[in-house]
Amino acid sequence: MSSITACVRFRPLSSKERRDHGDSVCIQCIDSQTFLFKDEKEEEYTFGFDKVFYDNSDQAQVYEFLALPIVKDAVDAINGTIITYGQTGAGKTYSMEGPSILVHDEQKRGLVPRVVDGLFDCIKSSEGTMKYSIKLSMVEIYMEKVRDLFDLSKDNIQIKESKAQGIVLNGVTEISVLDAAEALQTLSSGIANRTVGETQMNMSSSRSHCIYIFTVQQELKKDDRWKTGKLILVDLAGSEKAEKTGAEGKVLEEAKTINKSLSALGNVINALTCGLPGKASHIPFRDSKLTRLLQDALGGNSRTALLCCCSPSPSNALESLSTLRFGMRAK
Ligand code: ADP
Ligand code: MG
Repeated sequence: MSSITACVRFRPLSSKERRDHGDSVCIQCIDSQTFLFKDEKEEEYTFGFDKVFYDNSDQAQVYEFLALPIVKDAVDAINGTIITYGQTGAGKTYSMEGPSILVHDEQKRGLVPRVVDGLFDCIKSSEGTMKYSIKLSMVEIYMEKVRDLFDLSKDNIQIKESKAQGIVLNGVTEISVLDAAEALQTLSSGIANRTVGETQMNMSSSRSHCIYIFTVQQELKKDDRWKTGKLILVDLAGSEKAEKTGAEGKVLEEAKTINKSLSALGNVINALTCGLPGKASHIPFRDSKLTRLLQDALGGNSRTALLCCCSPSPSNALESLSTLRFGMRAK
């Protein structure tokens, strides 16, 4: 059975929010799982999640609660997914990367560099009984096309399913890494390529889903069989409802495409949490590239963590409420 952990993170107020609205916030902490939310009409809602990270939470806390169990499982050949969801500016990339994945500041490092360290630590501690190899891939989904961030010439990667390997990104670049430093350098080149693509296609990174794929291969010394755990981190495109703001042309097309894939993700997560065991065939993985790509890291015997990122400002209450409602579907 798959299991989904749904968490919320409120970032600190931005200086603009402070300038425009002072210190006021639309949330009131009740405890580490519950808070009161006040919308723009002063209507109050109580929300409960597996964990709420308030604006004073630090990156290490988020990693330990949300990611560490999934990292340990990946080393035991159990697939996992960590997803950040929310409107642009809500803190998705900060939670994933920190200020940059190469930053050494222990306080600020995000999930990606901590996951890299965690994977290599787990592997090291089981040395002697088990041998492992780690491979990295990095892709971006923009307008329902999968682009290889390690090789921009591969700009339309097809998603296939095979009995032996599960979901496969056909021809995607896989880079073997021997230690954490090498892994971070490699991923950092993928992030830099994302910026190159942005300029080429004249788009903003907030309009595409960024996907980090860690393949942890176990070599069972006994019978020489390979067991694999796949750990996928997803920094989603902004969830804001651009089509309601009078967007036109390309921006409107982007918004519609993002909206479709995010609702496909919501439907899949909802089906996984509400679904009855044995009814896995009814989960609509094929409704978007995103859900198809994540199929064997969301379904089956896997673990998923969803981090719903929100601004605490009353000026963003409408979008935050929509993010929180998305998160509730995972419960
Ligand atoms: P998103 O990726 O959701 O569009 P970002 O992660 O880029 O949003 O965050 C927007 C801004 O808020 C950035 O300047 C980022 O540094 C800041 N920020 C986000 N979350 C936090 C946090 N938890 N603590 C401090 N600053 C944050
Ligand atoms: Mg971002």
